[in-house]
Parts: sequence; structure tokens; C-alpha cells
Amino acid sequence: MFHETDPQRIIRTLTGQLESDLFLGGRWLPIGRVETVQTPTRPTGITRATKMTTAPKNVRETPQLSNAQIKIIEEKRQRLTEIAEKVTQCRLCQLHSQRHNSVAGEGNPDARLVFVGEAPGQTEDEQGRPFVGRAGKLLTNIIDAMGLKREDVFIGNILKCRPPNNRDPQASEIAECINFLYEQLEIIEPEIIVALGAHAAHTLLNTNTPIGQLRGRFHEYLPHPFAKPIKLMATYHPAYLLRNYSKDNRLRVWQDMQKVLQELKLPIPGK
Ligand code: SF4
Repeated sequence: MFHETDPQRIIRTLTGQLESDLFLGGRWLPIGRVETVQTPTRPTGITRATKMTTAPKNVRETPQLSNAQIKIIEEKRQRLTEIAEKVTQCRLCQLHSQRHNSVAGEGNPDARLVFVGEAPGQTEDEQGRPFVGRAGKLLTNIIDAMGLKREDVFIGNILKCRPPNNRDPQASEIAECINFLYEQLEIIEPEIIVALGAHAAHTLLNTNTPIGQLRGRFHEYLPHPFAKPIKLMATYHPAYLLRNYSKDNRLRVWQDMQKVLQELKLPIPGK
């Protein structure tokens, strides 16, 4: 039963529910048109501040890239392909023995935004692609509701091979595998990393703080002690969200993603 009588609170509550429903696939909800925003491909060689003032803020506005910038992006793509080839050959940990496919990750080699999950599941192992199962569909919905496309971002995992029965990654497996992700992040140089779930957040932030306390605010991922930190938003893993499909959890993730969009100076659909 809905007993709230304050009109402002009713509007706030309903708006929050509608927004979180929207990113979970309820695109029919009349809270505003969701427009696909081309995540600006990063022009390399200019400062971040300059980039943000020149970045296209609106729909399907494709940035003009110089030949030098296109060349840099192609080099990044080539380097990521080389890492994927190394992953395919990798036998550093026991997980190689049961994999059908390794899953190196995929997406924009020059992405401003990178999503990092835990490890491939069954569907990912079968297809060799990240986040294509049920949880992956939810992640795609989330990206879609952010006004982005999967091709705009890069999607990867801490582990590149599926643990048996989707068990948690072991510390020794992470230790063997993590350099692949570190290298990918070094090449892509994203502005923001979204760590999906506790394993990704704990590994990248080197902490054991519960995900419920980490989520909702930006942290700093330090590629190495002298590197410039990259902002990291921790949030719930889509698989957790599916298992705990409450309005509150959906709203929490949607609020986290709104902060990411704000930080990237991209429009928030429906606002
Ligand atoms: S999980 Fe990583 S370290 Fe282990 S075999 Fe696969 S690619 Fe290699």
C-alpha cells in the first residue's frame, strides 16, 4: 500500500522508480526520450580539460578526428588484439584446461568508459565474448539506458577464462591473469572504470571493503605508483542485481550510472 501524502515525495519516489525501470528495459515508460549518444572518441594529444570542452555533447555527433588520432586509435586496436591473442594461448592457471573459449574483452579501443566484471560465465565461455548471457543482457540494457552503445565502451573481466560452475575467482588465478587487464587499461586509458561487483572492485582498489560501502562514489584506480589515477565507480554486478531484483537495488545502480554520466559530462537520458 502506498501511504505517502506529500506530493513532492510521491513525485520523487515515482521518478526514481521509473528511471530505474527504464534502465532495466522498460523503454516504453514515458519519462523522456532516450537518445543514443556517441561517446566521444578521445582525441589524443590534447588535455583532458580541452577535450571535455570540445567533446560532442549531443546525439550522434561524430567527432572529427585527424589522421594522427585515427592512427593512434588503430595502434591501440592492434595492441588490444595482440593481448587477446596472448589470452587465447595462455595456460598460466588451471582455468585454461576447461575453457571452450577465452574471453579477453571487447569494445572501443579508445573508450572513455570501461566496465570490468569478474569472469566469463557459461554463455561467455561458449561465445568467447564478455557479458552476453542473462547478466550481460542486463548490462547492455544499463549501457543503453545511459544513452550509449556497447561499441562505445570497453567491456572486460578480471579473469579471462570461466571458473568451473561460475565459482568465485581464486586469488592465485587473479594473480596470474590480472596483468592482461592492467595492460588493456594502460592501452585504452579510460577516464572512468566501472567495477561491476565485489571481485572487480576489490582487485582494482586493493581493498576488502564490502561492495555496499564502496558503491555510489568515485575511488581512484592507480595503474602504478607514479601514474595518474583513473576514477573508478564501484557498483553491483548485474548478476547480483538479477538475484536481488529489488527497486532499491535497481535505483542504486542507476544512481551510480548517473554519476558516471555526470563525470563524463554526458547527458542523462530522461532528465
Ligand atoms: S584465466 Fe587468465 S591466467 Fe588463467 S588461463 Fe585464462 S587467461 Fe590465463
